[in-house]
Amino acid sequence: MDLIKQNIINHALSLGFSSVGFSKAEFIEEESIRLKQWLDSGYQGKMDYLNNYFDLRTDPTLLHEGTQTIISLTFNYYNPSETSGNEVPKIAMYALGEDYHKVLRKKLKELSNLLKNTIDPGLNIRYFTDSAPIMERVWAKKSGLGWVGKNTLLINPKSGSYFFLAELLINLEIEPDVEINDHCGTCTRCIDACPTDAIAKDGYTMDGSKCISYLTIELKEDEIPIEFKDKMEGWAFGCDICQQVCPWNRFSKPHNEIAFNPNPELLNLTSQEWMTMDQEAFDEKFAKSPIKRTGIKGMKRNVGFLG
Ligand code: SF4
Ligand code: SF4
Repeated sequence: MDLIKQNIINHALSLGFSSVGFSKAEFIEEESIRLKQWLDSGYQGKMDYLNNYFDLRTDPTLLHEGTQTIISLTFNYYNPSETSGNEVPKIAMYALGEDYHKVLRKKLKELSNLLKNTIDPGLNIRYFTDSAPIMERVWAKKSGLGWVGKNTLLINPKSGSYFFLAELLINLEIEPDVEINDHCGTCTRCIDACPTDAIAKDGYTMDGSKCISYLTIELKEDEIPIEFKDKMEGWAFGCDICQQVCPWNRFSKPHNEIAFNPNPELLNLTSQEWMTMDQEAFDEKFAKSPIKRTGIKGMKRNVGFLG
């Protein structure tokens, strides 16, 4: 491996990233066809922003001119504490700690500065984590960090799927990594377990408009469609079912990032406490939490829908 590549990996790992992979920045033709089919099927629901920037989404060299390499990164958020879903509405594991956008952006900025300082101050770098029209999973897959499973998540054979994805777009040619094989095999656990049938029967395609993550976070309507009543399985913010049942997640290990330690409030708040919470208490408890995105009104809608 060349020295620059090894340096980048070392710097990223020293900042807490779990894995690093490299791919050549270019138009992704096959994925652009799949994306078009997915959008034409209406699987984006009311996430209208996914209809925008199709060109940039399928060609990162248009997103950031001069980009030669995509550096994909994963950051572990696996946390053994979970919400029970009985008295306490369930919250997706990624959302139990502080908002990852903020935490990871800081680390990406630090990494970017480190690369400029140690490789070339003239490097042109942009970094993202779920913050730009870029197909994060596709690039992570291309760079050998895992395969995209039937549940449509990136799965790493050594660590499962409980991690965030991030990318650096850089104007430096670096030897790309090699993709790894799909290891889903004959397993269908995620498809069988999904309570809303959001995953296609053969896997690998998700109807986003049926996913509990969409219904509880992205959907901004006053009501969740009644057809999903009794299918939420206690989830009030996101859903982890298709990760919980995935056999590859037996390899998950707890993260080391203090910012992602669970907010004790989220592990203990009962439905009744959610329904009687006022704005002031919500703001105070969840100032740094991703739950803020849904707001108190959205959380009450979600918790109330669980019945
Ligand atoms: S997150 Fe939940 S609702 Fe969405 S596809 Fe996975 S199991 Fe189904
Ligand atoms: S549960 Fe099975 S089919 Fe689904 S992503 Fe995991 S290994 Fe693949």
